[in-house]
Amino acid sequence: MKSVIKHHGATNGVTGSCHELKFGEAGFLIDCGLFQGDEAAGKSSADDLKIDFPIEHIQALIVTHVHIDHVGRIPYLLAAGFKGPIYCSEPSALLLPEILEDALKIGFTRNRELIEKVLGYLKTIIQPVPYGEWLCIYDSDSRRVKLKLERAGHILGSAYATFQLLQGDNDEHVVFSGDVGASNAPLLPEAKSPERCDRLVIESTYGDRIHEGRENRVGTLRQVLKRCLADNGVVLIPAFSIGRTQELLYEIEETLHDDKIKEVGKFSEWEVVVDSPLAARFTEHYRNLAEFWDKEARERREFGRHPLNFYQLTTIASHDHHKAFLHRCLSVRKPRIVIAGSGMCNGGRIVNYLKAFIGDPTTDILFVGYQASGTIGRQILKHSPDNGFVVLDGNRFDIRSGVYSLSGYSAHADQQDLIDFVSGIRIKPKEIRIVHGDERAKKALQSKLKALSFDSKVIISRAQETE
Ligand SMILES: [Zn+2]
Repeated sequence: MKSVIKHHGATNGVTGSCHELKFGEAGFLIDCGLFQGDEAAGKSSADDLKIDFPIEHIQALIVTHVHIDHVGRIPYLLAAGFKGPIYCSEPSALLLPEILEDALKIGFTRNRELIEKVLGYLKTIIQPVPYGEWLCIYDSDSRRVKLKLERAGHILGSAYATFQLLQGDNDEHVVFSGDVGASNAPLLPEAKSPERCDRLVIESTYGDRIHEGRENRVGTLRQVLKRCLADNGVVLIPAFSIGRTQELLYEIEETLHDDKIKEVGKFSEWEVVVDSPLAARFTEHYRNLAEFWDKEARERREFGRHPLNFYQLTTIASHDHHKAFLHRCLSVRKPRIVIAGSGMCNGGRIVNYLKAFIGDPTTDILFVGYQASGTIGRQILKHSPDNGFVVLDGNRFDIRSGVYSLSGYSAHADQQDLIDFVSGIRIKPKEIRIVHGDERAKKALQSKLKALSFDSKVIISRAQETE
């Protein structure tokens, strides 16, 4: 009764995570994503992204989480004739239409009517599944498939998916990890390993790395914020909309709550601003879904704190408001932290802030995510130590600001977290397939997993490989 696992993503470097689990005649897709970053820049034509595999037998799409490299290709799936259902966690069911609205605007059309139509249809086929509950998603004469989603601790709503495949008296448990969260991440509870797993498909983004601890990170953040308070400067944080922005706000609130920082002058004038319509909306969702936060975050709230809604925090959605605020920053100096996208500075509102403030020595730029080669963010990191310059919208800007990089903010599990996730499975997998990482990360994780003292076959999965 062995199931078949295929990988449809990453065949041409521009598509993201997309796996297929086949059981008899029935197929199930796990994620349908778009690759992001330098590699995809300018190369992702609509033809490259078209669904190029058969979908007639696909019974359902299961979404592990709403990052664009896991869901961005869903519009193409609908265009290919997929009619649902789409299973995902309850928070993801709320977030998915919003993230796809953005993806549609960027990649498909600006036609409002068409977008509304697609989103309207999408909402009718999304089916939220509560964490931890089994749901029968396929039932034929001889085969049944049940699905269970469990928290993956990566971003709000993230889940790993367990499929129970039943035929006669036999059953098999196949687990797709999606992206697993870092164990020390704030705000969301960490992933607990599945009870039983016969075949495991696991991500390996940081399969060769160990993250900086949370304490170091908060310490560096505190130093930068102190400097900002002392010299009345601006702190610019290029950030992505989902996950990292909210983690940052959580740790900024932690710092603001700290008595040591309250002693520094100008504390009462402090402003924290999230200048991004999407990040503002997602922060709102994070606030409203506090029941999915971890214990520490919920306790803070019970003690009257507002980790994602502290009084110094403002969010900016409209472009007019953005322009007015930028003008105010230039005319009235006070200590400000501005979080704006894009995360690698290749576009978005952060570019306007960089143009205005990168030449000012009281400015601090704080990178909290990986800066891919070829991006403006990478150039700033590279040229700042020797007082270099960066070209923004065709003009040269000297870098006089402080530039820092905080490494521990990844929402991804590091090598140890991934090993712990596998070690914690009580009924161990006979087969582990490593996906979603570069070659070095996959190999490093493979050798670590092989060294664990149980008898699993550990395979590095290549695109389109079938078994
Ligand atoms: Zn992700």
